[in-house]
Amino acid sequence: MPDSMRRFARHSFLFITSCIITIFLFSWLSMWAIHEVPGIGTVVFPTMTIFLLVFHAIIAGFMLMKYICEKHRLYLMPIACAFAGSALLMLGTLSSYPQWYLCNAGRLINYNDAIIFYFFRNIMMAVLFVIAVVLYHFRKHDMHVRSIHAWILTAIGIFMASMILLSWLYSSKHPLLNVHFIDNLTYTFTPLWRGMTGWFLIALWCITLIILLTVSRLRNIFWYSGGFFCVCYIVTLWVLLSSDHSAGYTWYQARFFETLTTLFLIFVLLCDVFNLYRRSHDKYLDSYQNSIRDPLTRLYNRRYFYDTLTQQLSRTTLAHPLSVIVSDLDRFKRINDQYGHLQGDKVIQFVSRVLQNAVREEDVAARVGGEEFALLLTNTSATEAYNVAERIRQAICQQDPKRSDGQLPEPITISMGVFTATEHDLSAEACVQRADQAMYAAKEAGRNRVVVWQ
Ligand code: GH3
Ligand code: MG
Ligand code: MG
Repeated sequence: MPDSMRRFARHSFLFITSCIITIFLFSWLSMWAIHEVPGIGTVVFPTMTIFLLVFHAIIAGFMLMKYICEKHRLYLMPIACAFAGSALLMLGTLSSYPQWYLCNAGRLINYNDAIIFYFFRNIMMAVLFVIAVVLYHFRKHDMHVRSIHAWILTAIGIFMASMILLSWLYSSKHPLLNVHFIDNLTYTFTPLWRGMTGWFLIALWCITLIILLTVSRLRNIFWYSGGFFCVCYIVTLWVLLSSDHSAGYTWYQARFFETLTTLFLIFVLLCDVFNLYRRSHDKYLDSYQNSIRDPLTRLYNRRYFYDTLTQQLSRTTLAHPLSVIVSDLDRFKRINDQYGHLQGDKVIQFVSRVLQNAVREEDVAARVGGEEFALLLTNTSATEAYNVAERIRQAICQQDPKRSDGQLPEPITISMGVFTATEHDLSAEACVQRADQAMYAAKEAGRNRVVVWQ
């Protein structure tokens, strides 16, 4: 079995297991909640509808913002429209519960209207989910230009508007069209709902789920929660179909279930945002480090050294001196000529490690040129800096090439110049220039030594 198939099988197993567990848990929770609060069903349903409306509006806004940030994710827009349209249709549902807040509006409830809005909401969401999956499938195709996006978004908008319009025309708010899914006198579902419409909606969600699973292959948590959403709508419809009466427990249980599912979806989306933030933060840290470090040695680079030196100089006083040590490897060209550039690089890496280990965490060790290094030692006097430089020089010249694990082909030496600033009116360039002068004095005096600038 190829790797991708095995991964899909593993994801599917995880998906089915988590669906079964969550659905069982949600069903139990909704059943418990509905039974715990008997008698106020007429308040519970519209209250939950208001919650659901707000949740769906939040999800729509979230998807829209994500699309605005990442325009190549056009597939987010049908989902945004699905939730926005759903929120609008829920306003219709709410209007079928006039004066619900009075707690005794039972006889005023227009159950048939509520289910008509629910019917169109299901069709609209399922179809828009399928469109989203199809757009996801073609996301890498050459279609991310303004005009194509505009055409697709217009088509989605027209579809959404026609669903809303149809639901309004079929509801009791308009005399033109009518359909009866619930008898408003006896509160019983009509054969039209029980016999065909309910099953049609279940079949629609099943097809949506199959398309979603096949195309997305549950590649990430986003599609995972999309799949879960489809399953939950199938279960909600199943719950509704299991009852004869609209005013019964199942009616409220279905709504409670839907609310929990949406909450879960919001939670998943928040996790997605958090993951995205974490990944982009890691990437930022990574690229920041790359921008201030030298790739060969991972010491700081020249720019970072100068920036830090300029900052620290402003705080330098006689009591808080700042030392700069400039070093250059002796006769390094010969190493390159004799052993090749790769070996030369290894020598540079070896010296960098010695330098890095010789300084404190608050100091800066930088590679400022090919085989030239600079150290910035805060709160360090000339004598202390000389001692540090001397320790480094000895560590390098006393290193036995045989014990260097192939890093050194022969003994090497380094020349170092030290300059200590005790006042803040010097520029970074002037400090480095003086340390440089001391380093050249060390070269002229025979190399392999430390000279302090006088
Ligand atoms: P001196 O004692 O006077 O410093 O003699 P030198 O041979 O070290 O002279 P210089 O400092 O001018 O030589 C620098 C050499 O370092 C020249 C160049 O070939 C080599 N070099 C510069 N950057 C790199 C690098 O990244 N890798 C390697 N392998 N060699 C480098
Ligand atoms: Mg040099
Ligand atoms: Mg050199």
